[in-house]
Amino acid sequence: MSLIELNKRQDAILQIVKENGPITGEHIAERLGLTRATLRPDLAILTMAGFLDARPRVGYFYAGKKSTVAITESMLNLKVKDFQNVPVVVSESMTVYDAICHMFLEDVGTLFVVDKDSYLQGVLSRKDLLRSSIGTQDLNKIPVHIIMTRMPNIAYCLDSDSLVLTATKLIEREIDSMPVVKETEKGIEVIGRLTKTSITRAFISLAETHDL
Ligand code: ADP
Repeated sequence: MSLIELNKRQDAILQIVKENGPITGEHIAERLGLTRATLRPDLAILTMAGFLDARPRVGYFYAGKKSTVAITESMLNLKVKDFQNVPVVVSESMTVYDAICHMFLEDVGTLFVVDKDSYLQGVLSRKDLLRSSIGTQDLNKIPVHIIMTRMPNIAYCLDSDSLVLTATKLIEREIDSMPVVKETEKGIEVIGRLTKTSITRAFISLAETHDL
């Protein structure tokens, strides 16, 4: 996929630079039997698009497709499975008090709630737990299934899903994380956790991959 269509001469220049770079504009022109002035616009386009890098007194060298095209390509190829974390799950009968302790101990911002067969039933966020802590209720007496966000309102993703699509879902639903699941006939199995931190890690890896 390329958004920038190169003409024949630009392709020829790229080929020459790939094989001979660093090479001066003069020498590229010589090889093509053209003048330096004729080549100037093509060289400018190739440099601006990120195909070529130019160094004073050294010449042109191939920079790869370090352009928005290449970055867009790798961004669309990022998958949930490459950035997901281990999920932290609790049982729906756990008390709110224990869930709060669990959240601290496991150092996560969201707990996934499963039934006795380990299928996804709900989600508990920090604010869900905080909200239920306001007031006089005995947190040791309330099971988490009373306060959790429950199925079928849970947003989840598959490990084969595109990370960009999943990030969009996180923002649209205004949530911090999503369970990564496997859908089976009997129910939804939780196999991972995809959070805003996962998206941040992906963002950094993209920058590193492209030497930004
Ligand atoms: P916080 O409560 O710390 O702001 P979130 O923004 O993730 O964390 O949660 C906001 C609300 O959305 C909570 O009530 C929570 O239960 C719910 N929620 C969190 N994750 C999901 C999800 N994947 N699907 C549906 N609801 C969710």
